[in-house]
Amino acid sequence: MEDNRALGKNSMRTIYGGLLRPEHAGQDVSLCGWVQRLRDMGNLVFVDLRDREGIVQIVFNQDRPDLLEAAKKLRQEYVVAVKGPVRKRDPRAVNKDMATGEVEVEARDLRVLNAAKVPPFQVADPVQAAEDLRMKYRYIDLRRPSKQRAIRLRHEAALRTRNYLSSQGFLEIETPYLAKSTPEGARDYLVPSRIYKGRFYALPQSPQTYKQTLMISGFDRYFQIVRCFRDEDLRSERQPEFTQIDIEMSFVDREDVYALVDGMLAALFEVIGEKIETPLPRLTYEESMDRYGTDKPDLRITGEIADLTREAAGFQPEVIRKVLASGGVLKGLRVPKAAGLSRGQLDKLGEKAKECGAKGIIWLKNQNGFKSALKLDDAEARTIWEKTGALDEDLVLLVADRCEVALPVLGFLRKELIPPQSGTKFAFTWVTDFPLFEWSDEENKIVSVHHPFTSPRAEDIPLLDSEPLRVKARAYDIVCNGYEIGGGSIRIHDFELQRKVFSILGLSAKETEEKFGYFLEALGYGTPPHGGIAMGFDRLTMLLAGEDSIREVIPFPKTTSALCLLTGSPSEVSEKQLDELGLKLKK
Ligand code: ASP
Repeated sequence: MEDNRALGKNSMRTIYGGLLRPEHAGQDVSLCGWVQRLRDMGNLVFVDLRDREGIVQIVFNQDRPDLLEAAKKLRQEYVVAVKGPVRKRDPRAVNKDMATGEVEVEARDLRVLNAAKVPPFQVADPVQAAEDLRMKYRYIDLRRPSKQRAIRLRHEAALRTRNYLSSQGFLEIETPYLAKSTPEGARDYLVPSRIYKGRFYALPQSPQTYKQTLMISGFDRYFQIVRCFRDEDLRSERQPEFTQIDIEMSFVDREDVYALVDGMLAALFEVIGEKIETPLPRLTYEESMDRYGTDKPDLRITGEIADLTREAAGFQPEVIRKVLASGGVLKGLRVPKAAGLSRGQLDKLGEKAKECGAKGIIWLKNQNGFKSALKLDDAEARTIWEKTGALDEDLVLLVADRCEVALPVLGFLRKELIPPQSGTKFAFTWVTDFPLFEWSDEENKIVSVHHPFTSPRAEDIPLLDSEPLRVKARAYDIVCNGYEIGGGSIRIHDFELQRKVFSILGLSAKETEEKFGYFLEALGYGTPPHGGIAMGFDRLTMLLAGEDSIREVIPFPKTTSALCLLTGSPSEVSEKQLDELGLKLKK
């Protein structure tokens, strides 16, 4: 494909300076960009000129004393236009660290297009500024090469997604942002209606009901790269608005979704030259919890949780006996080469385990005999040691508790203590067969694990009335390096079944009608079997860009406390605006 960036042509610029290479030597070029750096050697001035594609050296010399003097007055981040011939550098002056390091441009013309105040931090990688400062001056932060790269990668990933899905027969269809509440388990962002005072639009938590409605309308294969809005307490990897690759398809089963997404991920990771082997591996939710203590396992980390419950049946220590007697379990994890952890460090781990809900952890070492905080006899210790596959320099961590506590605690410690294997860059897995419902202590009722439109497995439908918490869903997540990067399900397309699920979730007929009236009605007008998925586009781009926070790949992100430090939103509004909306603030 022709590289159109090289053309970059317009009246002020003939090429991006960052693209100049030895083959351009001899050409007269017009460049535009920002002053990265200036070195004044008296009768010679070097200016590093930065544009979107990189940095190139401009030389001002005594052939043009007027320009030399003008160049001396340039400052960091001034915006300039330069004209002149490209020439090869003297071999001794070649800079191997710069892509343009074999060439430079000899200035024959210089125009200052704009001056700049001294920037609050240098435009350079790695950045030497705290995140808050970067966010306040995001426009300067985004000038850094790594940011330019990340945002471009985002564009390339979006383009690749569109091309791939279009090639598979999908249509990109927009759905409203001023919408009715869509349930994804978070709080809605509300937008007051001026025309209908006292009524509100909700910004969609996802286009879930719309995309299902499109299936009812016969569009068959839909996608959209779409913004979603969720007013949740933010953790580091959440944003109040984020982008999904949203997909829905008709007349399909789970295998169709897996195959589509496997292909899409392979296409996306090709953007960074990574070959992803497909089909991607799969784990059921139960397997994932049993082996890794989480539904988002990082499979770059080797090592699995061992179940010691059966072996521990005759163990003497009272804590273990008590837990087992009340139906609990004993689970263990081998932490390679961690025998050197000090008492203090082990105590800290114990504290962390407590934060995760455990009563504590038991550790076991085997250096000149077994050592543990717990009085295990030699045979007991050996059983544990062998079952977890531990070696001399290792540490074994044990949790005796209810299964729902023991597994996540060890899952957390696995991620915390065992580094990922160095050879594997990206480890994907599908996690399938999630429970349809879970118990929420907070709400004191049954809630959906995914959302209420998720279909139960056909074989579990008889359990809906008797044992709803045992019903498995036709739902799946796709996980990479311990991040959930997507999730979806085959949906309920039967009116009666949908109504039943709403009622199990404790919605009265009236609430169902208010919240989902149109949708339930639509289900009755010829709904095809359908299913889909949504992929977290920010997170995917983060993985592609090799960043460790989604904020790094979102042009204008919010802070973890939902503020935009650049614009100062959210902000107060005028009395007049409130009046127009029929709103009054509580004092
Ligand atoms: N709407 C769901 C979500 O945003 C994804 C899906 O079920 O397709 O998580």
